[in-house]
Amino acid sequence: MILAVTMNPSVDISYPLHEFKLDAVNRVETVRKTAGGKGLNVARVIAQMGEKVLATGVLGGTIGDYIVQELNKSDISNDFLNIERESRNCIAILHEGMQTEILESGPTLTKEEGADFLGKFEDLLSKVSLVTISGSLPKGLPADYYQQMIEISQRKGIPVILDSSGDPLRKALLYKEKPFAIKPNITELSQLLGMKVDSGIRHLQQALDHELFQGIEWIVVSMASEGAFVRIGAADYRVTIPKIEVVNPVGSGDATVAGLAVALNRNQPATAVLKTAMTTGMLNTIEAGTGSINMTKFNQYFDLVKVEKID
Ligand code: ATP
Repeated sequence: MILAVTMNPSVDISYPLHEFKLDAVNRVETVRKTAGGKGLNVARVIAQMGEKVLATGVLGGTIGDYIVQELNKSDISNDFLNIERESRNCIAILHEGMQTEILESGPTLTKEEGADFLGKFEDLLSKVSLVTISGSLPKGLPADYYQQMIEISQRKGIPVILDSSGDPLRKALLYKEKPFAIKPNITELSQLLGMKVDSGIRHLQQALDHELFQGIEWIVVSMASEGAFVRIGAADYRVTIPKIEVVNPVGSGDATVAGLAVALNRNQPATAVLKTAMTTGMLNTIEAGTGSINMTKFNQYFDLVKVEKID
């Protein structure tokens, strides 16, 4: 089973409007509410791939209850640390071809809650063979919190795929215990290194030679329609994908992490792992839902992904 961690989940609400009027009343007819947060997207796609997944993290209040209800409806096992404060809503207003987002920051966790979750996390590790950690940290937790989770997992011999950004990601790469895999996009990679990284192969190779990445077994730099550049141990790969009709690309990175997790957990060969991760990313872009794929189209897209080893 795979453990999918979301430390700051949300209910994602989308309001489609023909026109978004400021300083006026906007009435919405169709409202879409989903259990959101990057790790929950990962959990959903893992479940859609037919693999066992357990969703965990921290949630609370009626919004937390709604998230659990939605997960139960989708048959996704879950075991969260419950807190007394409300989890967050994240609102996307879709108007005139644009997307205006209003994102609550979510509850501030206490030191005790941070420690309680680490205890829970350690307990849950006895049930799983791989962990994914996605997204930002809630307020109140130290920036090295993911690093602490990685250290606990390593002690138990469980590999971690970390998909985060900013300080929590940087801190997780600074210490001796490294995540097994990371999946930055080019922007996150550039932020991490404090310089603009472009998608040229030599440039990417140079970027990944940085000491921050030493000791990470799998580095998947996802590049949207350009596929990915990947370093596995000492070997580099360029993964290319076909041109496709995109419906909604949001959550493609999460679907890629889900594909990576499932294929790694099934001990598939590296080429199959990379093709699976790219396929689940692509399948997400052709669906309207965020972090959702249709597995009936898997083989068709999988066959079109090309993996080339770079000398
Ligand atoms: P997000 O933050 O929206 O979850 P991301 O920036 O982490 O995404 P991307 O690099 O945009 O991740 O996308 C991950 C994978 O999804 C890509 O490597 C590719 O397989 C697929 N993908 C994303 N966008 C496109 C696109 N426009 N066309 C084809 N495939 C895409």
